[in-house]
Amino acid sequence: MVDDGVVAVNPLFARPGEARVVDKYRMPTESMLPETAYQIVHDEIMLDGNSRLNQATFVGTWMDSYASKLYSESFDKNMIDKDEYPQTADIEGRCWKILAELWHAPEPTATMGTSTIGSSEACMLGGLAFKRRWQLARRAAGKSTDRPNLVMTSAVQVVWEKFCNYWDVEPRFVPISEEHKCLDGHDLSSYVDENTIGVVAILGVTYTGMYEPVDKIAAALDAVHHDTGLDIPIHIDGASGAMIAPFLQPDLVWDFRLERVHSISVSGHKYGLVYPGLGWVVWRSSDLLPEDLIFRVSYLGGAMPTFALNFSRPGAQVLLQYYQFLRQGKAGYYSVQKASQDVARFLAQGIGVLDAFDLWNDGSDIPVFAWRQTAGHTENWSLYDLSDRLRLKGWQVPAYPLPDNLSNVTVQRIVVRNGLSMDLARSLLDDIREAVGFLDRLRGPMPSEGQTPGFHH
Ligand SMILES: *Cc1c(COP(=O)(O)O)cnc(C)c1O
Repeated sequence: MVDDGVVAVNPLFARPGEARVVDKYRMPTESMLPETAYQIVHDEIMLDGNSRLNQATFVGTWMDSYASKLYSESFDKNMIDKDEYPQTADIEGRCWKILAELWHAPEPTATMGTSTIGSSEACMLGGLAFKRRWQLARRAAGKSTDRPNLVMTSAVQVVWEKFCNYWDVEPRFVPISEEHKCLDGHDLSSYVDENTIGVVAILGVTYTGMYEPVDKIAAALDAVHHDTGLDIPIHIDGASGAMIAPFLQPDLVWDFRLERVHSISVSGHKYGLVYPGLGWVVWRSSDLLPEDLIFRVSYLGGAMPTFALNFSRPGAQVLLQYYQFLRQGKAGYYSVQKASQDVARFLAQGIGVLDAFDLWNDGSDIPVFAWRQTAGHTENWSLYDLSDRLRLKGWQVPAYPLPDNLSNVTVQRIVVRNGLSMDLARSLLDDIREAVGFLDRLRGPMPSEGQTPGFHH
């Protein structure tokens, strides 16, 4: 696209004496009318994709009108101003205590937790607590703290690569394979040593939606503990699953019921059903969060402990989370998540029966599933071509390679969120069938220019 560095103002909104184009990369010298500025921004974002048809994202794209009302009443609140907004601060505490109870913390009201800007910040805090605990123990034992490492699957979300990069921790990736599709405790003992600060288990792997079997991972670490004396904790990256499992798989033991689980993080803005900008992290008990990581901010004449990377942060999302907790209750969360799971399983079933595809999983963990092309089906088209065909209809359904050691396998994935109704899902399935029919009728291979996934985890 030719970039002439200016944005043209729709002539209908241009007024006598006002510029008809504005600089893109320089602040205008003069002010403009709010209607005009509004119209420019409004028109620009018209070309973004339709968020309801975005089957790539896990992040909330729909809330009801009372949530919008509450949002507009509270978007001026800064979460860090605990003293100025004591009620918002109190509600933040209620929210993470509710989560602590949902995740079976032994003493939900006596532990430690916080809201964050998303799971990424929450994961960083979980990782930092691991690193500091390990350092304190190593120093106390007169041992070196030079080479900390963190063990996780090769299918981790990018935040864990960032954590290791930013905080100087060696990442140790356990590769996935056809036999071990996620981190399942297999061979774990050969990855951990005295420098392992912790193991990450993912509840709802981003690439496929599968739960990692936390009980098996914990059992493998129990065996390491027994054999070597190394007592290695687990952080649960429950970005999606920590708000699904308590409702849809209540008997699955993945949370603080396992003593080795020290901390759990979740994205409030994924299946917590809030708009973007919210995560949570909770510790099993407050002694697992080293005291020297905690800062105090002034609150009602006293001091309130805080642990966060950001200082200022919107408070409105926290209020929206509390709204959802009240509005939905356990019954509401169950029905919303169950509806998503029903749609995911319906779609997985409909896609799985097509000759062209093999399902990787069926959407019965989090409402997310992936599939690959059946081996030998065709040389004429790939999942990238299918993704392009669906884009013609407005659907965003990404295709991408799996991570090591399966980077030769391309999969395509659908994330079902609140807002993708059964009716919309039927249309999506029709469009997939039609696109596959078109691609299968090709008499030669689709031309390609070195296709690459335009998608990041
Ligand atoms: C989405 C996701 C993250 C990052 O969460 P944000 O809330 O987007 O920062 C981390 N881990 C997993 C497993 C995720 O799915």
